[in-house]
Amino acid sequence: MSENTAGDSGTRGDSSPEPDAVTAEGTADEAIVYDLAPDCTLEDIETGALYHAAVNGVVEYGIFVDVSDGVSGLVHASNLDGEYGVGDRLIVRLTDVRDNGDIAFAEASPGGYTTETVAHEPTLSRVRGLVPGDEVTVEGEVVQTKQTGGPTIFGVADASGIVSCAAFEEAGVRAYPAVELGDMVHVSGTVETRDGGLQLEVDSLKRLSGDRAEAASERFTAAIEERADPADVDPLVEWAAFESIHEDLRDLARLLRRTVLSGRPIRVRHHADGDGMCAAIPVQLALERLVRDVHEDPDAAQHLFKRLPSKAPYYEMEDVTRDLNFALEGRARHGRKLPLLLMLDNGSTEEDVPAYENLTHYDIPIAVVDHHHPDPDAVAPLLDAHVNPYLHDEDYRITTGMMCVELARLIDPSVSSELEHVPAVAGLSDRSKAEAMDGYIDLAAEAGYEQADLFDIGEALDYAAHWLRYSEGKTLVNDALNVGCDDPERHAELVEFLSDRAERDVDRQLEALDEHVEHERLASGAHLYRIDVDEYAHRFTYPAPGKTTGELHDDRVQETGDPVITIGYGPDFAVLRSDGVRLDIPTMVTELNEELPEAGVSGGGHLVVGSIKFVKGRRSAVIDALVGKMADAEIDEALSSTAVIDD
Ligand code: MN
Repeated sequence: MSENTAGDSGTRGDSSPEPDAVTAEGTADEAIVYDLAPDCTLEDIETGALYHAAVNGVVEYGIFVDVSDGVSGLVHASNLDGEYGVGDRLIVRLTDVRDNGDIAFAEASPGGYTTETVAHEPTLSRVRGLVPGDEVTVEGEVVQTKQTGGPTIFGVADASGIVSCAAFEEAGVRAYPAVELGDMVHVSGTVETRDGGLQLEVDSLKRLSGDRAEAASERFTAAIEERADPADVDPLVEWAAFESIHEDLRDLARLLRRTVLSGRPIRVRHHADGDGMCAAIPVQLALERLVRDVHEDPDAAQHLFKRLPSKAPYYEMEDVTRDLNFALEGRARHGRKLPLLLMLDNGSTEEDVPAYENLTHYDIPIAVVDHHHPDPDAVAPLLDAHVNPYLHDEDYRITTGMMCVELARLIDPSVSSELEHVPAVAGLSDRSKAEAMDGYIDLAAEAGYEQADLFDIGEALDYAAHWLRYSEGKTLVNDALNVGCDDPERHAELVEFLSDRAERDVDRQLEALDEHVEHERLASGAHLYRIDVDEYAHRFTYPAPGKTTGELHDDRVQETGDPVITIGYGPDFAVLRSDGVRLDIPTMVTELNEELPEAGVSGGGHLVVGSIKFVKGRRSAVIDALVGKMADAEIDEALSSTAVIDD
């Protein structure tokens, strides 16, 4: 029968396999009889097509047949050739679907035919734009599986958003136990309002398999990739040195957007100082906004974004251990993906490697934005992204805050107007002499900030960071920086209070030190200042030994106008600062280890600024050897440690 050929059925759309595949099996004249999956609905059938059917009832005027669990209809006696009982199977042609939903079939005897199975292809709804009360089917990836005391909650992501789907088996019993994180699924259910957001009450949740899963996964990945594209925005200040870095920031913005869109949490660690805060706050603002935009659950940002300062100027084992515990607990208790770690204003050096290695045991991705002198050979194999001006023949004058404001704008350009003063604060805070500083200060002036205000904000952040220690302090920090702060007066009062305290504490510290600073003139002409910060500085207060040494150093540089080296030491550590002297601290550390192996010298940092540790009993030997090496160092007026303050 020619009207029943594969050509006719080709009009049924995506649900049938490629016509070629069918004709390859049979001949072109053979009919196709569809075998519907049990969950097929009216959407999957078409008038004129043939179906395998089972009799579910016999009446005077004909028989009722099922072609799927949900699709049944009448074969009227006038269209029936044989005699059938309940449970018998036959082939039927769909003749009519009436407006009232009644379905009419006729018995068919196609002779030779090919059977094709048909899977249910529901009309899919996008997560974004779901309306309470609607019955919908959503296709997406499972990004969370959480068992509550009641239903099982599946977080399902499509390219438009992420919605929680509540499936109830029995109180506290895992529904659909075969469905796991990363599976592609079809979820059908009713959209409901819950805790101020939308949730899908699940009627059925089906894990896709084989080719369908693969195709769905490809669609999802492609759509996410498209949506992950960063915004097309130019840097706030045009700056040639910044161009190649901006490209790297675009790539990182794409990675972070993709991370959020795929439901993976993000954990930020940052240097606990002014520049570190100016880096972390803008990124937090942009990413939290994106999380809220992507998730139907209004509390998602709270669970999926965490920012914490690092006390040390590198990623310590203590920090990574906390981060790992938190991540693994989130997976175990809340069925979340493991996070991506984003390191800001830290994280480029060999000292970060052990902590990074610990994360790699769990395949946790790591991205870094930093302007400290990097050890690319050591960290590159462990990082998924590394933005650092030194990788583009630039240096620390491009501060992390400057880069991260641009990163935030690439993630979500709507944050721009709130961040115009932040690069200037970052630059002043890190004493940057970048060529773009004038442009940044002008930009801040347009937003109503004078240079003295900007400097005070940086000092206030630094002071707040000291007392916050391991805490996030979100509101306090946002108010001090005036980002996401709703009360400008409070911002002004807070900055004045904190920066005054900071200045007072620095003065107090320098006064305490003053008569104990040892001074000598090196053969090179440089001044060498030495201070035992453990004996003569106030302890456990602001500024800590690193910053105390830095403040003393800056004071002496101003006073003398000559090349200066400053060493602030404690029982088992020394902080080194220099201006106008060609130091190479990493090499000095290597040499000290060869000359005094029993002193256990470690640390380093950058060429002209750093901190080292050693065993207490060998302090004088280490300091003497260190001073000897510094005395040999050449004068180079261009070298300054002023902008590379490590605490
Ligand atoms: Mn910095």
